[in-house]
Amino acid sequence: MIDDLTEEQRAFADSVRRFAEAHLADGALERAHNPRFPFDVAQKLAAQGLLGIAFDEKDGGQGGTLMDSIIAIEQIAAVCPRSADVVQAGNFGPIRTFVEYASEEQKKRFLPDLLAGRSVISLGMSEPDAGSAVTELKTSARKDGDHYVINGTKIFGTHSPDASLFLIYLRFGPGVNGIGSVLVERGTPGFTIGKPSPFMSGEEWSQLYFEDCRIPAENLLLGEGGFKKQIAGFNVERLGNSSRSLALGRYAFELAKGHALVRKQFGRPLCEFQGLQWKFADMALKLESARLLLYRAARVTDGLPTAFDTALAKLACNQAGFEVANEAVQIMGGTGYSQEALAEYCMRRTRGWMIAGGSTEVLKNRVAEHIFEQRFDQRRVQARAAE
Ligand SMILES: Cc1cc2nc3c(=O)[nH]c(=O)nc-3n(C[C@H](O)[C@H](O)[C@H](O)COP(=O)(O)OP(=O)(O)OC[C@H]3O[C@@H](n4cnc5c(N)ncnc54)[C@H](O)[C@@H]3O)c2cc1C
Repeated sequence: MIDDLTEEQRAFADSVRRFAEAHLADGALERAHNPRFPFDVAQKLAAQGLLGIAFDEKDGGQGGTLMDSIIAIEQIAAVCPRSADVVQAGNFGPIRTFVEYASEEQKKRFLPDLLAGRSVISLGMSEPDAGSAVTELKTSARKDGDHYVINGTKIFGTHSPDASLFLIYLRFGPGVNGIGSVLVERGTPGFTIGKPSPFMSGEEWSQLYFEDCRIPAENLLLGEGGFKKQIAGFNVERLGNSSRSLALGRYAFELAKGHALVRKQFGRPLCEFQGLQWKFADMALKLESARLLLYRAARVTDGLPTAFDTALAKLACNQAGFEVANEAVQIMGGTGYSQEALAEYCMRRTRGWMIAGGSTEVLKNRVAEHIFEQRFDQRRVQARAAE
């Protein structure tokens, strides 16, 4: 594996790996098949300073960098793939947007539990009629005195069955500029969390229903016009998704490599068959090239990663992660396809990240816009004219 980390980053990577081997290696298989958020792991990671790695110390974070958070995902996933979701939840997902834009009061209310691994936050962006076209979301907020009244529904939210806080994108008025976000706590009257439904990966999501749900005005995160700001912050979320894709591809690669060294057929270890050697060469090429793009996007010295670098990194990592995990299953034969090993889990998980957080097609649209230096509106001309 290419090691282009600085000395300090290498020392950090080694310490995270030692922690993972000591505390997360046992139970890695069971964790992967348990859809519940592993709060026990979250609390261990919190105690080790692995939640809020790149957040300011004044917010309860570690004052590290985005690269440190990526290194943490790589090292934790190398030992326990499922626990990498907890690193994501405590560093990249909606918690990152929250830290970026929340008021001091909101941070005081919610961050201590989130950063201690006692609670988890879920992002509500997607709706039944607003997926890739997320700006078509209909969930609405109406001001009523010192409250907002929310109506609408959300689907597919990661950790939604376990979350106690929800970052909900909604509309205060028409158009893209009418979109902003609020924070809704579990248990708020008018807010119902549906029965958990499984994805192919085994993860579960619950549909969220808001029926005249009243939340205090101080739960506003970003009001009208907030959407564009939040979407810039979403590039960080995408790098977390990219890192996990790549890390799970790497995990499956290492499993398959170990298997090919010891499994014998026709009197020889599998690694002696050229047909399989070439698969490994292709897999290494995919992993290493995607890693370079990921690191390039993450090594921003100030501000947020750019949309172009992020789109390329996510595309490369999503494709490499899935294709490598898929090949690992093939190389390991029946063992790879069995739920007694984690190769098939890595394949199922990496498949979902080609859809979540900006599908591969939507990212390619973004890359094309960068190439041609213009925005290509995906709506039909008639629909645009009618707006
Ligand atoms: C594992 C997982 C976790 C998720 N977590 C969350 C979460 O935490 N919070 C949340 O709000 N949502 C979440 N989602 C939902 C995710 O954001 C949406 O699934 C995604 O935006 C795609 O929307 P859709 O499923 O409605 O597909 P659609 O938008 O209906 O797209 C269907 C297909 O058409 C393609 N397509 C659509 N438009 C174009 C276009 N203009 N050009 C080319 N191709 C196009 C898409 O790429 C896709 O292949 C998650 C999804 C998954 C799978």
